[in-house]
Amino acid sequence: MPVLERSLRYLFAPIVLAFIGITMIQQLTVTWQEWLPKFDELPYYLLTLSAVLALQFNCGRISYLSILLLIYYYLSQSAPPAIFDQDQIFLAGTLIITFFAVSKDRSPFSIHIFKVLLGVSLCFAIAFAWKTGASGLASFNINQLPSTLNLIASLYLPVGISCIVISIYTVWHATGTNSSIALTQFIWLFHFYLPNELSLAILLSMLAAAYLFSMLFALYALAYKDELTGLASRRALNTMALSLNNHYSLAMVDIDHFKRFNDTYGHDVGDQVLRLVAKKLSKVKGGGQVFRYGGEEFTIVFENKDIELVLPYLEEIRQKIDHYDIVLRNEGRKLTSKSDRETTHKPNPKVNITISIGVAEQHGETSFENTLKRADEALYKAKNNGRNCVFA
Ligand code: GH3
Ligand code: MG
Ligand code: MG
Repeated sequence: MPVLERSLRYLFAPIVLAFIGITMIQQLTVTWQEWLPKFDELPYYLLTLSAVLALQFNCGRISYLSILLLIYYYLSQSAPPAIFDQDQIFLAGTLIITFFAVSKDRSPFSIHIFKVLLGVSLCFAIAFAWKTGASGLASFNINQLPSTLNLIASLYLPVGISCIVISIYTVWHATGTNSSIALTQFIWLFHFYLPNELSLAILLSMLAAAYLFSMLFALYALAYKDELTGLASRRALNTMALSLNNHYSLAMVDIDHFKRFNDTYGHDVGDQVLRLVAKKLSKVKGGGQVFRYGGEEFTIVFENKDIELVLPYLEEIRQKIDHYDIVLRNEGRKLTSKSDRETTHKPNPKVNITISIGVAEQHGETSFENTLKRADEALYKAKNNGRNCVFA
């Protein structure tokens, strides 16, 4: 996925959506004043739920953040605010969010929990030391922009750097969890810089809802998307079958001699080729929806299309894959020096793969399974016909 698309999807879109949500809720709270106290309990329920669910989904970082936010919410509700230096808490929170943004998800039921505890304690220690040290440094220059310097050195600089680090990590490792962590930083900033705009209860409820939503999204992807190719999975095909009408064409696609390919070039190269074939297939014309059926087999469903109409599209995609030169990286080059490479430079080898396709049409009352079986039989014929062809 290009950097721009990753930035839009994983960084800007969640923040813009949160901003729109905040603005809408602000409008509502004006008219719903008497309901506001009822929201005070909500973060406890939602953050506890997201902490527990995150554990189930191995999103350790979301689980830790939910627990820390729960503690923060409890303290801010129960303890008198005077005992906190708000800036230090803000800085510590920012560093903790940054720490989770750059860490990996690990199970909390392991040795890693001690690393996290150490990391969080260190963030607190750095925040307190930095803020105290920077304030002392600024008081030296009391006649030269003291308050501005103080604020920049003690707060804006580390917070600014943290925000940049979080943004880069979110775009670089574009995942739902990293997106949720970037959103946490946005809500944290909003809470501290505009504390009177929206109550902490509503902000944290929104954040917990975003955590839950991102986990739901991850659960959906787990169930309906194939991890290797990014195509819709066989489960998605079975779900789609329930909603199909009685007029469609279905193609079964199988890579030819793929076992031999794996044996010759290795499983990793095989995986890359599967991704490549999936990418090419997903560009099939005629509105075909592509699924990874399993292994090196794919299914394409053309809704409301007769078989005569889809055959040219399938033939076109077969030819495209047949004519595509796959360039294999020359592993030996890694072991040689640059000058050696210049003298003994050999072009990277190219290989080609082919696919066979079987197609069947559904027009009438037969079941989806029956159409699939007929497409499979056509595929079998294509294989017996010498492979690299489309058979109906
Ligand atoms: P045919 O032309 O008759 O289809 O021969 P084939 O070798 O493609 O068929 P066969 O069913 O004997 O082998 C399929 C191979 O696909 C076996 C397995 O090594 C490979 N394969 C299945 N799934 C994956 C995968 O996820 N990654 C890789 N790299 N290989 C896979
Ligand atoms: Mg096969
Ligand atoms: Mg095969």
